[in-house]
Amino acid sequence: MESTAVTEVVGICRDLLRIDTTNTGDQRTTVGERVAAEYVATKLGEVGVQAEIYESAPRRANLVARIPGADPSRGALLLHGHLDVVPADASEWSVPPFAGEIKDGYLWGRGAIDMKDMDAMMLAVVRDWKRTGYVPPRDVVVCYTADEEAGMEYGSQWLVQNHPEEFEGCTEAIGEVGGYSYTVSDDLRLYLVQTAEKGLDWLQLHATGRPGHGSFMHDDNAVTALAEAVAAVGRHRFPIVVTPTVRRFLQEVGDALGIEIDPDDPEIAVAKLGPIANLIGATIRNTANPTRLEAGYKDNVIPGKASATIDCRTLPGQEDNFLAELRGLIGPDIEIEHKHRQPPVETAFEGSLVDAMAAALRAEDPAARTIPYMMSGGTDAKAFATLGIHCFGFAPLRLPPDLNFASLFHGIDERVPVEGLEFGVRVLDRLLRTS
Ligand SMILES: [Zn+2]
Repeated sequence: MESTAVTEVVGICRDLLRIDTTNTGDQRTTVGERVAAEYVATKLGEVGVQAEIYESAPRRANLVARIPGADPSRGALLLHGHLDVVPADASEWSVPPFAGEIKDGYLWGRGAIDMKDMDAMMLAVVRDWKRTGYVPPRDVVVCYTADEEAGMEYGSQWLVQNHPEEFEGCTEAIGEVGGYSYTVSDDLRLYLVQTAEKGLDWLQLHATGRPGHGSFMHDDNAVTALAEAVAAVGRHRFPIVVTPTVRRFLQEVGDALGIEIDPDDPEIAVAKLGPIANLIGATIRNTANPTRLEAGYKDNVIPGKASATIDCRTLPGQEDNFLAELRGLIGPDIEIEHKHRQPPVETAFEGSLVDAMAAALRAEDPAARTIPYMMSGGTDAKAFATLGIHCFGFAPLRLPPDLNFASLFHGIDERVPVEGLEFGVRVLDRLLRTS
């Protein structure tokens, strides 16, 4: 049988799942990314595509390849996928997480939907083009990254800082998390396209006081001051702010489901949205969750310093408002240190690429309707957006109506429907041929 993107995609995804690319967050134990990047390079090499592998640190491998298009004067399209996965505890799974088993119509394994499915689709499509001599309308840059799951420092962030030349001319990018279906009825499936991501700001609050003995009267205690600030932040609800992406999402969803949603007061309506509610509940306001506390070294010593980590997620355009509000909560005496910051990103849901996504989906699923949404988490798109590239989450998958897709991300028994994967590669191929 002649190989095509559709006949190859499941096998490629399976091969990738069998390469353990667990990102432990520790350099010494995160080693699989190099093996996976070499696998991709070999698969590209077989069809004559030369790929460059860049290591940001030993065995932290990133891969980039460019497929020349018919019209070099047009902006290039970036396709990106991360090769690393989060850890999996085999004792919790019903199949070994790195065996790539196929059963009950699913391909099982850590990374099956996050995001070796898309990694495999990208590879299958490019191989198919090269085998058949097809030239895409414009340059396509294919990029596989390390370290998406632990801060992107050794992956996309490193790449855009050290090798921006690889992305020269790229105007738009396609990566995770979007393009999957949510079934409303037999003749209506919503496909969510990610067009925005909240920013992240991991900050530390530092309180200082007078150190002293725990047996004395003491009114300048750093632990007390910090605890008050942490409690104030943790109990606070930031106000609702509806950004353009979320407004459009609410309008479209309300329309599709036939429910009335007031975009300026969406909270009541959001609660009615069922599984979709989880997706967007955190995208209508800024959030700040205390995650770590550090203070003291002895039971009877009042320490001079205490600190807390707050995981803050900010909406596009809201970073300054957010910080002012936070300052108001903690008072003037607590110091704020930004440990790690990535600004929010938002791209308009319009233009020829967006139209091509809708058309490619409808060609394979006449019940498809695309809608934009904002992610509360972050992806490699944040790094690529710093180069001025418009980023979309679109890893197409048609899902069975009863599958709780969101719970599979970083979840136990992560798996992708085999048919969904074949559907996805057909949609991706159509999209790339028409955009
Ligand atoms: Zn991912």
